[in-house]
Amino acid sequence: MTVLDAALHPIVEAMSVPTELLVGGAWRPAGTGRRLEVSDPATGTVLATVADADSSDAAAAVDAAAAAAPDWAATAPRIRADLLMRAFALMHDRREELALLISLENGKSLADARSEVTYAAEFFRWYAEEGVRLRGQVGMSPSGANRLLVSYQPVGVSVLITPWNFPAAMATRKIAPALAAGCTTVLKPAAETPLTALAVAAILEEAGLPAGVLNVVTTSTPGPVVGTMLADRRTRMLSFTGSTEVGRLLLRTAADNVLKCAMELGGNAPFVVLADADLEAALEGAMIAKMRNGGQACTAANRFFVHADVHDAFVDGLVARMAAVKVGPGPDEDSQCGPLINAEAVRKVDGLVRDAIERGARAVVGGSPADGPGHFYPPTVLVDVPLDARILHEEVFGPVAPVVGFEREEDLLALVNDTEFGLVSYLYTADLARGLRLAEGIESGMVGLNRGLVSDPAAPFGGTKQSGLGREGSTEGLLEFLEAQYVATSW
Ligand code: NAP
Repeated sequence: MTVLDAALHPIVEAMSVPTELLVGGAWRPAGTGRRLEVSDPATGTVLATVADADSSDAAAAVDAAAAAAPDWAATAPRIRADLLMRAFALMHDRREELALLISLENGKSLADARSEVTYAAEFFRWYAEEGVRLRGQVGMSPSGANRLLVSYQPVGVSVLITPWNFPAAMATRKIAPALAAGCTTVLKPAAETPLTALAVAAILEEAGLPAGVLNVVTTSTPGPVVGTMLADRRTRMLSFTGSTEVGRLLLRTAADNVLKCAMELGGNAPFVVLADADLEAALEGAMIAKMRNGGQACTAANRFFVHADVHDAFVDGLVARMAAVKVGPGPDEDSQCGPLINAEAVRKVDGLVRDAIERGARAVVGGSPADGPGHFYPPTVLVDVPLDARILHEEVFGPVAPVVGFEREEDLLALVNDTEFGLVSYLYTADLARGLRLAEGIESGMVGLNRGLVSDPAAPFGGTKQSGLGREGSTEGLLEFLEAQYVATSW
């Protein structure tokens, strides 16, 4: 199954991570023989090279998915569910090695990587359970003349595209519902973190997945490779997680083939602390919402709005916590915040911080990139951030917390909703009714009410506005990969 190559890092070799394309049940090199380097963002060390697919490999992957589609759609839900449950168990058993792999190629701390593996594996279990519970409907038309029968059928060949920030969870959050629904798939993971996706594919293979049901294409040329797959008439679905910018582009491409699209895009989460909030709980939630994955999460708290009565106390608490965060390579057991994914990410975060400071903000802790090696940026708290600073309007994707004070609750919703994004918001208050009332006015698909973490495989994850279309997780995530078919009849 595994094809090793000379450039493998010893740890990656010890884990027997595949490094070739998975097409039609065979691990094989790219047609051109080209390779793509994967490196550790903490040190720059090359961990492995993986096959670098081009459009002809992409076409072969769609061929394989299309060939496997009829049998997989006809496979009993229970058999599909048993397979997903075996994949869940295997992922669980391999938690430590998968966490190390994630930490190596993505840079996140081992603690974050372990949480990710647990979260990622849960999608296999949740959809194993969900896939056998799918129900249709039988009803009578309002006129009484006809019966309306509704059943759900797999949408068909699905192209799954994932980002580097949660290389395991973003893959399983798509693969599990697609497979449970009876769809065959081609997964294109991010170029920075293909090893985790390949390791997850190997687990599914070990769990007994038939050839062609999941194909994996790694590439350094995502535009033409994905374009080929989306243009193929047999492809019926695009499930994308990544930036709003690339999402917009792919929606345009998908329009030509009128594909069903599920889009999980960028965020700009507000974190609101009202005057009556439990400050310790708010600070604890703030650290989770800001620092999970070193701030490189679509759900990361991006803008802190803190009531004037508690502003200084909140800032003091946040600064103390951020200053105490241990920054270092993810695989070091005691590091709590790893590097950013690449040099460009550091430049982008630094640019946002510089812009805020030029407009009058102050860095109370952090505020400039660490010296190399590795792509490190220190935990940073900015205060007195003016409302026109770019950092309040663009996704930071780094360990920087810009804090803005506010006085009137009436102004809050306008502040919070002043963004084209609408993924998640966080709100801390001791008054549940007040929290629920405000939550109703917040334009986001998810709200953490006195919680700094919302992700749960059983909950519908997704955004409004330019944060996306559709939901992942929960029953809604399964419905994304299904088409309702209605039969009109009478008896
Ligand atoms: P990205 O640059 O948009 O890339 C996402 C995926 O799209 C990668 O696999 C990438 O491949 C591919 N891609 C890039 N350009 C493409 C093109 N022209 N055609 C087809 N595919 C293309 O995003 P990212 O930097 O990996 O991830 C960070 C973003 O993802 C953030 O905005 C974050 O908020 C968002 N995100 C959203 C969610 C959510 O659930 N809403 C979850 C996680 C992350 P390459 O790696 O080769 O560029």
